[in-house]
Amino acid sequence: MALEKYHEYYQALLARNSAYEGVFYVGVKTTGIFCRPTCSARKPKFENCEFFENVGHALHASYRPCQRCLPLSHPSQVSPLVRLLVDAVEINPEKRWKDKDFEELCVDASTARRQFKKRFGMTFVAYARARRMGIAMAQIKNGDKVINAQLDVGYESSSGFRDAFSRIMGAAPSRLDTPLLKASWFDTPLGPMIAIADEDALYLLEFVDRRGLEREVERLRQRIKGAIIPGKTPPLISLEKELTSYFSGTLQDFKRPIHLIGSSFQKRVWQALREIPWGQTRSYKEMADAIDHSRAVRATASANGANQLALIIPCHRVINTSGELGGYGGGVARKQWLLNHERRYNPLKE
Ligand SMILES: [Zn+2]
Repeated sequence: MALEKYHEYYQALLARNSAYEGVFYVGVKTTGIFCRPTCSARKPKFENCEFFENVGHALHASYRPCQRCLPLSHPSQVSPLVRLLVDAVEINPEKRWKDKDFEELCVDASTARRQFKKRFGMTFVAYARARRMGIAMAQIKNGDKVINAQLDVGYESSSGFRDAFSRIMGAAPSRLDTPLLKASWFDTPLGPMIAIADEDALYLLEFVDRRGLEREVERLRQRIKGAIIPGKTPPLISLEKELTSYFSGTLQDFKRPIHLIGSSFQKRVWQALREIPWGQTRSYKEMADAIDHSRAVRATASANGANQLALIIPCHRVINTSGELGGYGGGVARKQWLLNHERRYNPLKE
């Protein structure tokens, strides 16, 4: 978002301008709460505001809904059904919703889906996941400092944050010889990303709100038969610099060593993906041809979707033969952004 827009939103916030209702939400860094533009609470200083154009972003950034202006459940803005479900999530924000939970509330899951989509631009399940991830990530971010301090004075495993992290990342190691991966959080212009690595190589890089991320992490944990804890390793430290360069258009090829977990077919597809140059695109069909499996277009597309190293293995550079974008794990809007970004900084076009 451009700075002028932030200032515009800030003026609307000071004026409690109801014309901006639903246009933006404001997260207050000092309290960790997010509000509607018209909230009656005292207005924060500009430098303490973070503006969001949708609820999901505010939740993923770990903000809690304000109790006064009820940005998610205000009666004049949402249907009774949406309100009921938002309240139910707040009672237990870490719950994973199953079909029977809807039945218990006498709510039709598909109606809930439709109404959430209409009001918040995301399904109820995505909403609940955003809230859950936001909480866990807030605990991880706070706890990161705690655990680093603890590591300095010797390992101590009792902090509450470790429990939160374990719920997403898997159990903390109980034995010293357990294989150990570390996870770091990075803020990018396209939203937060999480990366997982050991001392030598990267295993995963994904947008935090990627659908199925928790499952992906869990699968990784099972594959390594080990634990994933927050922290930094050399590949993660270098990656942070590389991501900054990537997003500023000065880095076109990630140099980090990577560790691929997948079938030999998947690995061939991923290798071929790495050979698509910056700023260019290929169709799924062309990818299948590139690995000499011209009839396996579907399998190629699904290997493409199973990529766990976003950006580094540039699966966003594969589009439909028709020229349409096709899908993207991190969302089609991000795919479009990445392709535009790479075209803008493409040296071949100069
Ligand atoms: Zn408020």
